[in-house]
Amino acid sequence: RSKNAGRSCFHLYSAELKAEADQRNVLEIELREAIWREELEVFYQPVIELGTGRVKSVEALARWHHGTRGYIPPAEFIAVAEAGGLIVELGNQVLARACRDAMSMPADVKVAVNLSALQFAGTNLVDSVTFALAQSGLPQTRLELEITESVFLADTEENLKTLQRLKALGVSIALDDFGVGYSSLSYLTAFPFDKVKIDKSFIDRIDRCETVAVLKSIVQLAKTLKLSIVAEGVESSEQVKRLQSLGIPLGQGFHFSKPVPLADLSWQGLPARRKRRAA
Ligand code: C2E
Ligand code: MG
Ligand code: MG
Ligand code: MG
Repeated sequence: RSKNAGRSCFHLYSAELKAEADQRNVLEIELREAIWREELEVFYQPVIELGTGRVKSVEALARWHHGTRGYIPPAEFIAVAEAGGLIVELGNQVLARACRDAMSMPADVKVAVNLSALQFAGTNLVDSVTFALAQSGLPQTRLELEITESVFLADTEENLKTLQRLKALGVSIALDDFGVGYSSLSYLTAFPFDKVKIDKSFIDRIDRCETVAVLKSIVQLAKTLKLSIVAEGVESSEQVKRLQSLGIPLGQGFHFSKPVPLADLSWQGLPARRKRRAA
């Protein structure tokens, strides 16, 4: 009896798994088609200089508007793209679009593009970046590439070489989601990054003294390594104040703007911390 119960239980479980796998396959097929038709969209989220409220750069974030399901979040479809071998093509489309779109932005605004670790594997990432710059006419100094430490987890030697070649193109390199990984501090010194983006989870907990202590040491380290620092996921003016008192100059988050289509970007009037001015 108990054996049967176990078996039916297994059955149920595997049926559920199968349904999940089927759904994933359908999603992958639909994503493949959307990429092939170049239907993916790119939204932009500004990075703000906290002291002035000025937009210093914008981050390109892929958006997939699904025919029946509406917008599917990148957290869902990027993983599908990575698993199905679609991420290289997806990444190249976002890169090309972002460089083109940046040409219609103010010339002092940079555009940041996220790279998957899988884009480093075997393919011609350096060629793709070179091509996107040449096609669009965007100066290399206006392109920033965001990577996570996952780039250092596999094929480290090879990936490091690719990273060096990218940097040699004159683009800047940012370490994204800093602080949530395995041994982030060592990754920060593994490559001459231009910028470090502190993960939202720290900003969420910025009112705790442990977090402040960690942030202080990150600021110190960044100074020593001559890195610029951005706080991700800034949602309140209270957080802005705390970031400024810690000496973190840049912020990105819903407090300033959600990711928006190119046409909806505004270049002024984002909430900066009010400064008292002598009359
Ligand atoms: P990310 O690169 O760390 O991007 C920041 C994410 O945080 C974005 O989510 C953004 O919408 C969200 N965010 C920004 N400010 C706030 C805030 O104040 N509150 C909250 N709750 N969220 C905030 P999104 O667009 O859903 O993207 C998620 C992740 O998907 C990105 O994380 C990135 O890792 C990946 N991704 C997005 N586009 C691409 C792409 O073109 N290529 C690759 N490889 N990955 C991408
Ligand atoms: Mg990013
Ligand atoms: Mg991030
Ligand atoms: Mg993040």
